Amino acid sequence: PPIVAIVGRPNVGKSTLFNRLAKRPKAITHDRPGVTRDRLEATVELGDRIVTLIDTGGMDFDAPEGLERQIVVQAEIALTMADVVLFLVDGKAGRTAMDDEMAERLRRAGKPVIVAVNKVDGSERIPALTGDFHAWGFPILPLSAAHGHGLQDLAETLAKALPEKETPGEEALPAPEAGIRLAVLGRPNAGKSSLVNELLGQERLIVSDVAGTTRDAVDVALVKNGRRYVFVDTAGVRKRTRITDGLERYSVGKALGSAKRANVAVVVIDATGGVGVQDKRLISYLDKERTPFLIAVNKIDLVPQKDMIALRKDIQDELRMCGHVPVLYISAAQRKGIGKVLPMAEEIWKECQIRVGTGALNRAMREVLDKHQPPLVNGRRAKFYYLTQASDPPPTFVFFVSDTERVRDSYMRYLENGLRKLFGISMAPVKVVCRASHK
Ligand code: GDP
Repeated sequence: PPIVAIVGRPNVGKSTLFNRLAKRPKAITHDRPGVTRDRLEATVELGDRIVTLIDTGGMDFDAPEGLERQIVVQAEIALTMADVVLFLVDGKAGRTAMDDEMAERLRRAGKPVIVAVNKVDGSERIPALTGDFHAWGFPILPLSAAHGHGLQDLAETLAKALPEKETPGEEALPAPEAGIRLAVLGRPNAGKSSLVNELLGQERLIVSDVAGTTRDAVDVALVKNGRRYVFVDTAGVRKRTRITDGLERYSVGKALGSAKRANVAVVVIDATGGVGVQDKRLISYLDKERTPFLIAVNKIDLVPQKDMIALRKDIQDELRMCGHVPVLYISAAQRKGIGKVLPMAEEIWKECQIRVGTGALNRAMREVLDKHQPPLVNGRRAKFYYLTQASDPPPTFVFFVSDTERVRDSYMRYLENGLRKLFGISMAPVKVVCRASHK
C-alpha cells in the first residue's frame, strides 16, 4: 500500500493523531523509544484507500543531537519512503522557526504535503489559528486530534493526494500472484529462442502479439499451472528455424531495455563458448542496475561429463562479482533443467517483494552494527541513526548516518550481507544506500 508519513516537531500531537487514524487506544508511553517503535506503523483506511501510516516522531531514538536534528531526520525518512507527507503543526503555538525549517525541507522534495493544523478545537477559531501557515503554500486542514474534529476531511484529502491506483495496462507490472514478466537475454545463438519455445511448447499457449512501440517488441504470454508468464520482446521466438540466424545484432542497450520491461531477466549463456566479453558486459550492467536475474547456462548436452566440474568452476569465477545470482545448467535441446527456470524466476521475484516492518528493520540495524561497528575513518566512526526501506522493488535499504564519508564500500557490503541473511534475501538484488542526515 502507499505510505503516508506524519512529521512534525515534538508535542504537536503526532502520536495522538496517529492513534486516532489507526483507531488504536492511546499509546502507552514514548519514554523509552525502542519499546514503542513497532507501534509507529499501521495499516489504515483512508476513504476508499488502504495505506500504511507511519509516525516518524518516535523514530529518532538514537538522535541525541537535539530537536533540530530530529526535524532533519524525520523529514528525510518521510521523503524517502512516503507517497504523501502529513505535516502536523500546532495551531495554538503558531508557526515556529522549526516548522519553517521542516516546510523548507519538504518543499524541496516535491512530494505531496498536506499541512494539518492541530489543536483547533472550535470552528470559530479556524482563521486565527491557521492563518500563519498559509505562507508555505501547502494545502491546510484544521483539526483536533484529541477531540476527533476534522479527521474525516483529513482522510479524504490524504486519499486524494495518493498516487493513482494501479490500473492494469500494458506497461503496468502485474502483481506477483498474477505471474511475472520475463526477459530472455543473451548473445545470438545462445539458445534463447529454443528455451522459450521449449517452455511454451508443451503448454496451452496463449499467444498475444501485442503491438509494441517497436517492431520487435512482441510479448508472448503463457499460462502454466494456473500462473501467467509473459515473455517480453520475443521477436521471432516462435519460429523454429530462423533465416536471420547470425544476422541478429547483439545490443546490450536493447537487452537492458527489455529487462526494464520485465520483472526478472534470464540470461542465456552458451556453455560451449563460456562467458564471453559481451555476456560479462550485460551481466555487469544488470548487476549495476540492480535488475533481478538468473543465469541459464545452455547446451550442456554438448559438454562432456568430465568437463562439467571445470565449467561450473569457470562460470563461478566469472560471476563472482554478483554472487547472489543463481545459475542453472540446462539443455534446451534435450529439455534438461528447463523446468527449473520459471520457478526460480518466481522465487527471485518473490524475494524482490519482501517488505520489512519498521521495528524489524531497526532491530536488524542494531544487530549488524553491534556485531561489527563501523570502522574508524580518520579517527572517527560514522553514526547510524535509522534504517528505512524504500517502497519499490528490489529491496532498497536506506541508512541514515551522520557522515557518509566515513562509510566505506567494504562496510556497505558487510551491511548488505547482514541484511540479506536477516531477511532471507539470497537471490534478488539488494540496494543499500547511505544518506547523510546532517544539516
Ligand atoms: P538464440 O539466437 O539465442 O535465440 O538461439 P537459438 O535458440 O536460435 O539457438 C541457436 C542454435 O543453437 C540453434 O541451432 C539451436 O538448435 C541450438 N541450440 C539451442 N539450445 C541448444 C541446446 O541445449 N543444445 C544444443 N546442442 N543445441 C542447442
